Formats: sequence, structure tokens, C-alpha cells
Amino acid sequence: MDKNVVWHQPTVTRDRRAKNNGHKSVILWFTGLSGAGKSTIAHALEESLYQLGANTYVLDGDNVRHGLCGDLGFSDTDRNENIRRIGELAKLFIDAGIIALTAFISPFQEDRQRARELVPEGDFIEIHVKCPLDVCETRDPKGLYKKARAGLIKGYTGISSPYEVPDNPEIVIDTSVRDVDQCVMEIIDYLAAKQIITPVSQELTVNA
Ligand code: ADP
Repeated sequence: MDKNVVWHQPTVTRDRRAKNNGHKSVILWFTGLSGAGKSTIAHALEESLYQLGANTYVLDGDNVRHGLCGDLGFSDTDRNENIRRIGELAKLFIDAGIIALTAFISPFQEDRQRARELVPEGDFIEIHVKCPLDVCETRDPKGLYKKARAGLIKGYTGISSPYEVPDNPEIVIDTSVRDVDQCVMEIIDYLAAKQIITPVSQELTVNA
């Protein structure tokens, strides 16, 4: 980084934003195989949080790859860079007081760890969206497993590229045994227990 680049200290801090918003901001980092349900749950959770009055934003794999990461492919190096950018972006979002939900396969432990280390402890909540490969393959919402099995996609996670299961995620949800609403409630309960949000009579109260 250029030595003349100096960080400007804002007067509107993250804590002040949290007070205004009535909730804290964290990164909810969804990780799991393609088809495990990361996007589905992230968006359903966002809907619930929105109805509770929270400020949220979902950073979704495909959407980000159209723009910010449109120059990146799926080699290991590009996947590293993709996750690095998402981590930095999510960090800016939480600085802006927003609950950032990221829905990326993010298959490598080292990349997820690096994203975790960008923010203070407790602000990175890793959610392993767990689902057996055969169930993901049966769902195959985008038809990509079929293409990967046919050898039309190289380096497809779970088929021809590894998925490193998180060692110690804050939350594990198994979408093969629980429906979307149950998965969402588990995460809401966690957020309430950690006093990130406090749903009281359908309203959020200030915790910051
Ligand atoms: P990912 O973002 O992990 O690639 P998607 O959310 O795009 O996965 O797709 C998951 C698919 O599985 C969707 O078609 C969804 O309707 C289905 N599904 C079935 N049960 C669940 C569940 N409990 N949670 C999430 N998705 C589920």
C-alpha cells in the first residue's frame, strides 16, 4: 500500500450506527457445497431480519461474480482472491452498520480464516450449511452437478475440487433434515442469544 494513503477516522462510528439501527452488525458467513442451501437460507433469513427492522445485505456468489469479481475464474488462486474481496467488502458493510450475509461455497479453510481475521472476534459468524453431497446432487438447482459429472465443468467443488469442512463454525445447520424456516429460526435464536438483535414484540431494541 502507498505510504501516503492515510485512514480517515469517521465521526459516525460503527457503535453510533448500531445505536441508531437498534442492532449490532456482524458478518454471517454461509459456507457449504453448491446446492446445500446457502442462498436460500441467507435470503429467507434476510427477509425475517428485514421484517424485524434490521439493516441487512446479502452478498451472493453469482451476483458478486458478475461485477466486483467478474474478472475472476474458479482456479484456486482466483477462488482465494474472490473470497479475499468478499471478506473486505463484508468488513465495509459491517462498518456501515449492516448485517452482511455472504453466500459463497468458500471451500478453503485458509480463505475463511483470513476473512475471519479481518474483523474483531465475535463479528464473524461462520455458518456451515451442511448437506450430504448426494442430496445436493439430487437437488442440483442450477444443473451444474450434472455438467460437472459429465466433465463439462473443471474443478467443481465436491466433484473435482475439495470442500474443506469448517473446523469450528459458530453454527451448523443441516438442510437435509430441517426445512428452511427451522434453519432460519436457529440462526435468529443464535443472534438473539448473542444480543446482536433482540426481537421483542416484533421490534428490535438497542443493544449497542
Ligand atoms: P447454494 O446457495 O448453497 O448453492 P441454493 O440455495 O441455491 O444452494 O439451492 C438449494 C436448493 O435446495 C434450493 O432449490 C432449495 O429450495 C432446496 N432446499 C431444500 N431444502 C432446503 C433447506 N432446508 N434449506 C435450504 N434449501 C433447501
